[in-house]
Amino acid sequence: MRLLVVEDEHDIRVFLRNSLTEAGFQVDVAADGKGAERLALDAPYDALIVDLGLPDMDGINLILRLRQIGLAAPVLILSARRSVDDRVRGLEQGGDDYLTKPFALAELLARLRNLIKRNAPTANEATRLRMLDLELDLLRREATRAGQVLQLTPQEFVLLEYLCRNAGRVVTRSMILDKVWGMRIQPDTNVVDVHIYRLRGKVDGRGQHPLIKTLRGVGYVLRDR
Ligand code: CA
Repeated sequence: MRLLVVEDEHDIRVFLRNSLTEAGFQVDVAADGKGAERLALDAPYDALIVDLGLPDMDGINLILRLRQIGLAAPVLILSARRSVDDRVRGLEQGGDDYLTKPFALAELLARLRNLIKRNAPTANEATRLRMLDLELDLLRREATRAGQVLQLTPQEFVLLEYLCRNAGRVVTRSMILDKVWGMRIQPDTNVVDVHIYRLRGKVDGRGQHPLIKTLRGVGYVLRDR
């Protein structure tokens, strides 16, 4: 089980790394939001522990950013902010559990294990999506076409996953903006078109049977005919 701990206070960070390692986890640590983003992009974590008061960004913003680029792992917020408002806000904006400082290690471990257990896919749950020779491994966040790994950015993967989950159904630009970028109102940008263009180059680019179709003025659909 692999964890990412995001905590700027040196003593707490070291304590968490040591005690979680002792408890059998593989632990990476980051002291700020930027460092956490870099690590989260590189490695699949089973859970994150995130402090809210970080030097370069608010922990909530960090969680929102990670969710937007496709982080699926559960997040335990560990913060000195104890008010009901703070806790509700944390849970509403991407945190899966909230523990206040000072904390007891035993409670942190119990909550962490619960989160990981709840999040683990059951044997029946689909961890792969397929269309023709396109395959998405949702756990490894990896897509292949005819067995060849596609070099997708995390956001392109989320976009492709969304198209795959809605295979055969037309999705509009505003649906994509909402689901992939978390924007409810369609801004005056062509961000969706640009990403679809790049994604299509990678998925359908090598003379393969095209899967990503454009319905002019409507949106996009992934289908095999
Ligand atoms: Ca802090």
